Amino acid sequence: MTRLVLLNQAMRLTDNMLLQQQGDCMAVLLLDKNQYLGQQHGIVRASSLKLAHSLWLAEDFRLQLQQLQLPLLCMLADANTVLPALIKDFGISSVVMAEPVAAEEQQLLQLAALSVPVSCLDLNSLLAAELRPDLNTLPDSFSKFRSQREPELKVSPALSAVSVSGRWLSPDDIQAATTTSVTVDFAAQWQQTLADHPLPQPQALATERQQQQQFLAYLYDNQAIYHYKTSRNQFCDLPSDKASRDTTPLYASFVSTALSHGTLSVRWLWQQICVLETTKAGNESTYWLKFELLWREYFRWQQRKFGVLLFSHAGLGRHPVPQPQGDMAQQQLKFSLWCQGQTGLPLVDANMRQLQATGLMSNRGRQLVASYLIYDLGLDWRWGAAYFEQQLLDYDVASNWGNWAYIAGAGTAAGRYFNQLKQALQYDSDAYFIRQQVKELSGLGLAAHLPYLSAAAAPWQQQLQVPPTKPDWQSSLAKLRQLLQLR
Ligand SMILES: Cc1cc2nc3c(=O)[nH]c(=O)nc-3n(C[C@H](O)[C@H](O)[C@H](O)COP(=O)(O)OP(=O)(O)OC[C@H]3O[C@@H](n4cnc5c(N)ncnc54)[C@H](O)[C@@H]3O)c2cc1C
Repeated sequence: MTRLVLLNQAMRLTDNMLLQQQGDCMAVLLLDKNQYLGQQHGIVRASSLKLAHSLWLAEDFRLQLQQLQLPLLCMLADANTVLPALIKDFGISSVVMAEPVAAEEQQLLQLAALSVPVSCLDLNSLLAAELRPDLNTLPDSFSKFRSQREPELKVSPALSAVSVSGRWLSPDDIQAATTTSVTVDFAAQWQQTLADHPLPQPQALATERQQQQQFLAYLYDNQAIYHYKTSRNQFCDLPSDKASRDTTPLYASFVSTALSHGTLSVRWLWQQICVLETTKAGNESTYWLKFELLWREYFRWQQRKFGVLLFSHAGLGRHPVPQPQGDMAQQQLKFSLWCQGQTGLPLVDANMRQLQATGLMSNRGRQLVASYLIYDLGLDWRWGAAYFEQQLLDYDVASNWGNWAYIAGAGTAAGRYFNQLKQALQYDSDAYFIRQQVKELSGLGLAAHLPYLSAAAAPWQQQLQVPPTKPDWQSSLAKLRQLLQLR
């Protein structure tokens, strides 16, 4: 009677009930090949950086558990083949895992449930157990969702101590029990997988230790949380900001990568903010970080409610969603310029290049490049979402597809269009971020904001009208020209 404990999305020691078992159990972390090496809309699902980051994060967790005499079986494999084989080989009597939010992860659960009972613990939501929303009465809009929970904003508590219990299968037990070719020599296979995907230096891993320390420093040492409400709109730290270039920026919290892999507990984060508010002080910004964590929560429940509908072009079908414009060759060309950060619109290019180089982008940057792809380039929003899925180290199915659907109008609200130039002048007023990321513009001053002819796109740019000049841009362009003359 061995229980299989699936630690996907739960790579942490703090606030992890999955590690508290009774009787015989076996710890497994199964990265589904299809979710990394498969394709959607013709786009590979994970960049080599994203894949390497996930693998090495898993390895870090495996080593941590090893110190606690808890062997973790890690694998990058086809879940459809491997999960049934594991259940058979090891005489598994039940499976327990973190509760997934999206249909694809539900399939894994259903696959296991064909042979053994499966139970789920909702480890990564703020609202679990008696606070769990009822999907039938879940409000459609974020503001209604939030006001339903306020003013108290009660969330499920985090488990305070790290505690591990259960009789975990040893490596020898595991070796002895492997009978089919599928699971044989898993340890060697895992080491080979790691060797095939080295992590580029100096890429930091979003491990539990590193992220907990970083977040506590964000609250107490740097006290950067106290300006979160305004600085979260930046694209990067500014030269005047306290942070030095080789540390994590302080304009936002940078917890998303750890949250998306389950190396940080969202309830632990929430608790830390509350402790700061009671023991030191709270302000609009400390509240705002919790407000943003509620956005994450909202998208998780929307995903659970609407499922696969949120991946279709029309989405929920409640609001108009722009149709792709131009023939397929033109669409593909525009899409590739957007991906490479070669559209000729400086702020879009700056954000897209940052994404390619680091696997991350600010929230405002994400909103702007999404709007540009949908409303200015006239492309299918799902191409953009799929490309983000490929690149983002903090990729989270509910937040990514939910935010894209939201901007396209495929979700519960009407779509959101942004005037790129107006936003650029407002949030990157000195063109500092643009000049940092778009090297060919680095020698310019404020003129770096002017749409330019990108070298890679030059042969087609005018023909494709990239960047387009929407009527509402004209006043922003006029303002920019006026500013340039004044300098
Ligand atoms: C088109 C688009 C795609 C996105 N894709 C993802 C994704 O794949 N994974 C992801 O974690 N976030 C995604 N976001 C949300 C948001 O941009 C990131 O969570 C945020 O930029 C991460 O940086 P941070 O942790 O420093 O955020 P902070 O601003 O410090 O916020 C703290 C946390 O609050 C939550 N949060 C903040 N803003 C949002 C938001 N708009 N929607 C949902 N949760 C939010 C996140 O968990 C975030 O880590 C996307 C937003 C857009 C517009």
